[in-house]
Amino acid sequence: MPGPACVSRFAPSPTGRLHLGHAFSALLAHDLARRSGGQFVLRIEDIDRGRCREPFVSGILADLAWLGLGWDRLERQAQGAARHEAALARLEAMGLAYPCFCTRADIAAAAGAPHGAPVIYPGTCRGLPPAEARARAAAMPHAVRLDVARAAAIAGPLAWHDAGAGTVRAQPEMLGDIVLARRDFGVGYMLASAVDDAEAGVTDVVRGRDLFAATHVQRLLQALLGLATPRYHHHRLLLAADGRRLAKRDRAETLEVLRARGLAGAAVAARLRGIPALGPDCHIAFT
Ligand code: GLU
Repeated sequence: MPGPACVSRFAPSPTGRLHLGHAFSALLAHDLARRSGGQFVLRIEDIDRGRCREPFVSGILADLAWLGLGWDRLERQAQGAARHEAALARLEAMGLAYPCFCTRADIAAAAGAPHGAPVIYPGTCRGLPPAEARARAAAMPHAVRLDVARAAAIAGPLAWHDAGAGTVRAQPEMLGDIVLARRDFGVGYMLASAVDDAEAGVTDVVRGRDLFAATHVQRLLQALLGLATPRYHHHRLLLAADGRRLAKRDRAETLEVLRARGLAGAAVAARLRGIPALGPDCHIAFT
């Protein structure tokens, strides 16, 4: 008996070309949908206007076609801006969002973090008197942050299902008061993606385990906004031959370069399909 039809998605940001890690993720998501007779959604996460570039969009489409992947729906995240703003307005109306005027340097200094280390926002602007926050917000660009402790208290205990980890209890405080939006730039990844997964009817989110922590927060956002919770498949990450995690800035493992070297997309896809989704991070190289 076939199971229910899945709706999966691949959601690249067009800030560079795809590398083998993206290809692995896209294949897993695509095949999950195809096996179930469901749908595979390609969502171009193009909301970061400062970093996204149109030529990368066409490059991503060409790379996926080279791998032999076809999609049922192509979405551009920037087109959902009104929906993202409405979600933000709801969180604001619930008293769960506040303006933050800190620069990166302010935050690092307040958190006492060494230069370059990941920083959890220490909550500096959370306690600003409302009148002062409003006056400053009207006068200067700022970020809008989620008051995560308050939001988590309202939502109560939450969990989600992960293909590798099983039932996971949500710990949204882990990333601190995340940025929901930047005034001038609009709603950011965390909220926009949670809203769009629900809007697209995604039943299965397939993505690398580097985004595991994001799920803790997105689960909370789903609860606050009354959105359905998909199943999650956080898969292993692929590493370059020297053990580094693949990154867009490393050109060597981009699909564009492999293709230019004369490799066949079908052969690359077949090799990636031979790697199980779960397990420790593993090396990949085409020599
Ligand atoms: N756009 C994100 C990225 O390229 C992925 C988002 C997701 O899969 O949730 O890293």
